[in-house]
Amino acid sequence: MIEWIKKFFVSFEGKTTQPAKCQVCGLNATNYMLIEFKTLELEEIEEKILMKMCNHCSKDVLDKYNPERNPAPIIKWNKEE
Ligand SMILES: [Zn+2]
Repeated sequence: MIEWIKKFFVSFEGKTTQPAKCQVCGLNATNYMLIEFKTLELEEIEEKILMKMCNHCSKDVLDKYNPERNPAPIIKWNKEE
């Protein structure tokens, strides 16, 4: 009986996990934004930031740092690549 109750609560918790929140405004996130720092010689620096963002905040970042959309943003990222 106790095992059954434990299982019930484990599955219950699993179903009520909060949707991912935008780390800027707190609305539901739709994207990840990966920030990768490099030296001016384009050498890798072990400093990366991966943050969840909503569509609106993602667009704000693009408008601020890449208003010409040049190069075109990567629309789809395949985890296998
Ligand atoms: Zn947001």
